[in-house]
Amino acid sequence: MKHIGAHVSIAGGVENAPLNAQALGATAFAMFTKNQRQWLAKPLAAQSITAFKRNCAQAGYDPKYIMPHDSYLINLSHPEREGLLKSRQAFLDEFRRCEQLGLIYLNFHPGSHLNKMTESQCLAMIAESINITLEQTRNVTAVIENTAGQGSNVGYLFEHLAEIIDQVEDRSRIGVCLDTCHTYSAGYDIKSEAGYLQTMAQFDRIVGLHYLKGIHLNDSKKAPGSHVDRHESIGKGTLGLETFRRILKDPRLDTIPLILETPDEMLWPEEIRLLKNMGEE
Ligand SMILES: [Zn+2]
Ligand SMILES: [Zn+2]
Repeated sequence: MKHIGAHVSIAGGVENAPLNAQALGATAFAMFTKNQRQWLAKPLAAQSITAFKRNCAQAGYDPKYIMPHDSYLINLSHPEREGLLKSRQAFLDEFRRCEQLGLIYLNFHPGSHLNKMTESQCLAMIAESINITLEQTRNVTAVIENTAGQGSNVGYLFEHLAEIIDQVEDRSRIGVCLDTCHTYSAGYDIKSEAGYLQTMAQFDRIVGLHYLKGIHLNDSKKAPGSHVDRHESIGKGTLGLETFRRILKDPRLDTIPLILETPDEMLWPEEIRLLKNMGEE
C-alpha cells in the first residue's frame, strides 16, 4: 500500500495539519512547523504539541509518513558568516520543533552558493551545517531534497547528494527526498519506462535506495533539463499521468511518504484519490 498526501496548512496551529490531511483522504502529509516566511517564530505551545500528537494518533498518522519541511529562507551554505549563522540557528530551531512534535524527519533544500564558491565547497559547507545540527539533536533525520538546479542551487545531481552524505558523520540520520518535478527539470528522464528504471538504478548506485525517505509528487510546467522549478498539477504538465502510474506501481516506494506539492489545492482530494487508485490497479 502507498502512503499518499499533500503539504497541508498549519494555519491556526500545527495541530491542524493532521486534521487537514485527514479531510483530504490522505495517508501521509507534509507541513511546516512554523511560518516559513519568517526567521523567528514563537516556541510551540505545550497544548499545541499535545493536540498535534493526539490528532496524529486519532487519524492514524505514523511519524514515518509525516514529512516536515523547513523554511525557504534557510541557506545552509550561505557565503557570508552572518547569513550562515542565522541559517544554522534557524535550522537547529526547526529540528527542535520536530523533536518536540515527536517527528522523525526534516526535509530541506540543500543550499545555494550564490556564485561565491565552488559547488564542492558549497556541498562541504552544507554537510558541516548538517553535522553541527545533528550533534545537538536526537531522533530527527535530515532529509535532503534534490533540486531542479535553478539559480545557484546545488543538489540537482545525484552526485551532489552523495557528496553531502559522504561528509555527514552520523549517516543513520541522513536521508533524501526526491521531487519528481525537480528530478525531471534537472535532466533525469523519469517520463519513459526505461528512463524511470534507469534513473532509479542510478540513484541506487550513486546515493543508495536505503537513503530514500520520501517522494514529492509534482508534475512540471517546464521541459526536462530546463533547470526551472515550476510545479504543475498531476497529469497536466510535461511529465503526464503515465509517469505517476509507473511511480505508484513501484513496490520500492511502499514504505515512504508520497507528498503532493501541486499548485491547485482544490484538486488535492481528487489527485490523492487518483494516485491511490493507480497504486491499487
Ligand atoms: Zn522542498
Ligand atoms: Zn518538493
